[in-house]
Amino acid sequence: MDNINDMTASDAYDEDPTWIDPDFLEILVCPECKASVTQEGAWLVCGNPKCGLRYPIRDGIPVMLVEEAEKPHRK
Ligand SMILES: [Zn+2]
Repeated sequence: MDNINDMTASDAYDEDPTWIDPDFLEILVCPECKASVTQEGAWLVCGNPKCGLRYPIRDGIPVMLVEEAEKPHRK
């Protein structure tokens, strides 16, 4: 699925394989800039607008590696 942009918190997460425990999410930080991250669908997005890296969630496990992260689109 590619519709990861408009995902909002809902009970859809009950059956979502990318669901992350909120307590676990709270301790995760962007390894690049140490900002907190928020979940957007199958991604964890860095909260720092100057960084903005997106980390994939694979099989319910966040891949918090800068090498694996997707950079925001910029020109
Ligand atoms: Zn960051």
